[in-house]
Amino acid sequence: MTTTDLTNRYHLDSYMEGGPARWTLDRGRLPVRAVILHHTGGWYGRPLDASATVAEEIAQVDALARDHQARFGIGPGYHYLAFPSGRLYAVGKWGTQRAHTMGRDPATGERWNVQAVGVCAFGNFEAELPVAGTVAAVRAALGEVDRIAGRVLPVIPHGETPSADASGRGFAQATACPGALLRATLVRGDESAVHADLDAVRRGVRAAQDRLAEAAALLEALR
Ligand SMILES: [Zn+2]
Repeated sequence: MTTTDLTNRYHLDSYMEGGPARWTLDRGRLPVRAVILHHTGGWYGRPLDASATVAEEIAQVDALARDHQARFGIGPGYHYLAFPSGRLYAVGKWGTQRAHTMGRDPATGERWNVQAVGVCAFGNFEAELPVAGTVAAVRAALGEVDRIAGRVLPVIPHGETPSADASGRGFAQATACPGALLRATLVRGDESAVHADLDAVRRGVRAAQDRLAEAAALLEALR
């Protein structure tokens, strides 16, 4: 599945208060250092599943973009949006700051909206498990970001982002975003996700062993 590039659709005065130049960065001076993972927490219309059409998905991205533009001055506030269909949309240009995470990285003093790419999955992953398509689309986003950055970047769940204000005082992001169920499924290095992967591998090996035993029994019976 390739990424659908909608970045030109939203790189306009109507979605960027003060015009695109105000939101554009010099990535030579301000490189991307991390990915921050988000969920929308809900839908901008009817909840969509794996069978949704491109038109239905883009209608929700448009609605999210209008909402974010009204509230934060830029819409969408993220760089990528992932859907249960497995489709991934690039919605914010690499060289733009967005509006997805408050505060600054205590390590660099830079705003997270400047130095992190925002990847967001449609849905509420406090309440529901992500379906395979959503997981695949988010993984595709992480892969694309790493390819563009030329290295594997840390992936930070929004609510766990270490943060400081402009004066350097630390604060906690008061949010469950991107939802415990997406976090457990996705975050690299997460113990439960690693164990879940290992369990899946073990189940696969057992199933293969069972099939081999069946085939051996069949051969035995045919002799
Ligand atoms: Zn978030």
